[in-house]
Amino acid sequence: MTNPIGEYIEMISARATDPEILKKAQDGGIVTAAYVYGLENGLLDGVIVADTAEGFKPVPKIARTREEVLSACGTKYSVCPNVSVVKNAVKEYALEKVGFVGTPCQIIAMKKMMQYPNAFRETVGNIGLIIGIYCMENFPYNGIKTLVEEYASVQMSDVLKTDIGKGKLFVYPKDGSEAVTVPIKETIPFEQKSCHVCMDYTAELADIATGSVGSPDGWSTVVIRNKRGKDFMDKMLAAGILETRPLDMESKGGYPLLEKLSDNKKAKNAKEIERRIEMGLPVPY
Ligand code: SF4
Repeated sequence: MTNPIGEYIEMISARATDPEILKKAQDGGIVTAAYVYGLENGLLDGVIVADTAEGFKPVPKIARTREEVLSACGTKYSVCPNVSVVKNAVKEYALEKVGFVGTPCQIIAMKKMMQYPNAFRETVGNIGLIIGIYCMENFPYNGIKTLVEEYASVQMSDVLKTDIGKGKLFVYPKDGSEAVTVPIKETIPFEQKSCHVCMDYTAELADIATGSVGSPDGWSTVVIRNKRGKDFMDKMLAAGILETRPLDMESKGGYPLLEKLSDNKKAKNAKEIERRIEMGLPVPY
């Protein structure tokens, strides 16, 4: 039987021990902590992250210092074409150990490029670590802009960070005032239509996948999928970069929730794929 969250070696709950990372990053700050650790210890020489341009617009950035990684941390809930700069990282910055973070669909794209590397052949060997973020759906930039500016009444230029959880979209203003929330059901019309045929919630092809689901507030659930991910994670743990706790495998809000959300996404989107096939529309699988 196929595992609903994909193959893995180990799963843990974890959070960064660095207070600055915990304060600025999303949930347990795993991606930020991994990239800062990788850059500062020679495991990575550059990392591709989603930075924000004017108006909280996500833009891909090749970060090579702790400060550059920290300035980009946090989830943006809009498309950021991180894959588009992988080749630049190798060709323009001569990087040999590139860290990549992305949504499950971007991880699939990376893996396809690595399998069939026609235009990518001089880059494939230079990928040092691939981290995937759990993703139920995403929004085009103008969609999230409408939600933030018209539904939450916050200007995009005033947004510090956004988050989705507990059935709500949270918009945190830069002035430190309380987050404004939008019920998740009101965000549905703004979702990217391509997300409705996406069958991967937990970045099944990444070296490491992470997100908040399954762990207590302020912690992340980390799924270590292969040897490269395990080696990297073991080094981080040995260096005290993360603190861990066993993943709760029993209660509703623990691992069972991760499995349930992954199952739900696959079941819902499989129906949409069938519907599109019946209508003669293109589907990705
Ligand atoms: Fe990509 Fe799937 Fe997330 Fe949409 S739901 S952004 S297609 S991973």
